[in-house]
Amino acid sequence: MADETNRRGRACQFGKLEFYVMWSNLRDVFARQLVVLVDPTNPQHTRRRKQLTVAVGTVFTLGMAAAMGVAPRNAFDDPLAPRVEHTLRMPDVHEQLEQLTEASDAGVYVQQERMQRGDTIGSLLRRLGVDDPDAQAFIVKNPTARSLFDLNPGQAVQAEIDSSNLLVSLQANLGGDAGSSRELVIERVAPKKEGGDFTYKARIEAVDNDLHYEMASGAIDATGFFKSMDSASVPDEVVNQMISIFSGVIDFHHDIARGDRFRIVYEAGFRDGAFVRNGRVVAIELINRNTLYQALWYAPKDGTPGAYYTFDGRSMKRPFLRSPVEFSRVSSGFGGRDHPLHHQWKQHKGVDFAAPQGTKVIATADATVEFAGQQNGYGNIVVLKHANGYSTFYAHLSRFAGLREGQHVSQGQLIGYVGSTGWATGPHLHYEFRYNDVPQNPLTTTLMEAPTLTGKSRADFLTYTSATLSRINMLRTYNVLTASN
Ligand SMILES: [Zn+2]
Repeated sequence: MADETNRRGRACQFGKLEFYVMWSNLRDVFARQLVVLVDPTNPQHTRRRKQLTVAVGTVFTLGMAAAMGVAPRNAFDDPLAPRVEHTLRMPDVHEQLEQLTEASDAGVYVQQERMQRGDTIGSLLRRLGVDDPDAQAFIVKNPTARSLFDLNPGQAVQAEIDSSNLLVSLQANLGGDAGSSRELVIERVAPKKEGGDFTYKARIEAVDNDLHYEMASGAIDATGFFKSMDSASVPDEVVNQMISIFSGVIDFHHDIARGDRFRIVYEAGFRDGAFVRNGRVVAIELINRNTLYQALWYAPKDGTPGAYYTFDGRSMKRPFLRSPVEFSRVSSGFGGRDHPLHHQWKQHKGVDFAAPQGTKVIATADATVEFAGQQNGYGNIVVLKHANGYSTFYAHLSRFAGLREGQHVSQGQLIGYVGSTGWATGPHLHYEFRYNDVPQNPLTTTLMEAPTLTGKSRADFLTYTSATLSRINMLRTYNVLTASN
């Protein structure tokens, strides 16, 4: 009987062991092969980074396509993950020039402008050199063409204009993800009969991008988290995903320390060889105060929305976020671990997060709003009631984010802004975490682990993971080859 249990136990262990061997291979790759990447002072850094990007791109576009098929391409299903600023595809000048030389009426030229704050369709068209009331009237009235109004400042719009400054066509990238873009195309249509009027039509096209996989790695140094990320050339939208991925296990305000190391593999979309936008983090590793955290994006085949999992199949989601204060460039490094506002936990029953006035305060878990108003000492306070006897308190707020008592709020939802109302000497968030109304220290409370994937979804997960990791592992082979060049 005991033997049987043992054997079964060992069989189980074996599967696990294999898995860890595979993962340790990946860590080897990260550790040994990417040393050049980690050290920006290394003269090979820039060159190697480019080579690797190419390598990852090649390896993944060849081999990864099948494996990635299980993950939907629309990035940012994670509601906490901030949206990518849409970088616009530049016009393919060569193509345009060819078209121009071939065109019978060679008087067509291409102009590109960026959307500016406060732009109207009229002012945008003027900057593009378009003087065409008919085209302008069409854009203002046509529901598809009107999506131009949705563009953010900085986004590019391209126009083809004839020699009379009339609009021939207009193109704008409306957004999308790393894998594909939605493109607005407005075109002039020649009159059906001679002497008739030009008309316009508008459509939105889905265009596929080429997915590449970029890799970034580095360490947190004395300059702080965000500057260290900049030194490692990690794009902001990837940094924000990183914060979101670990928000259930790490309080970036208190936990991130000098010497912490990270490695990130993320998607980047390209079109005609030109960068379009970054996408989702595919795999990430963070060594925080000697504790190793790893996560991998995975979308189960059963249609469950994708999420981040540890490499042994545990969800990275937790019932509570580690921090109720948005971690941003502005709020990071404000106060900090040794700030005088950090009272002794025992005297205080809560934790103070020093942060600039107006910093976003977010619900640490799904909840209903129990109270939102003024209380002596606490000033403006929000009390949230969670499942299983938990409640959280957010005090000294400068203002609320339009909350009603009894309203449902989701984890990560904005509930108010840091202030210094009530008995507060400076702007900070006083945060209390209670279980059956008894205050707990949220910084040291170990919160429930997420359940592990089981059964078929676990088998699927391991298949996916092993494919992903072995693809990343192939970098090693590539690096050996380039090293001999
Ligand atoms: Zn306090």
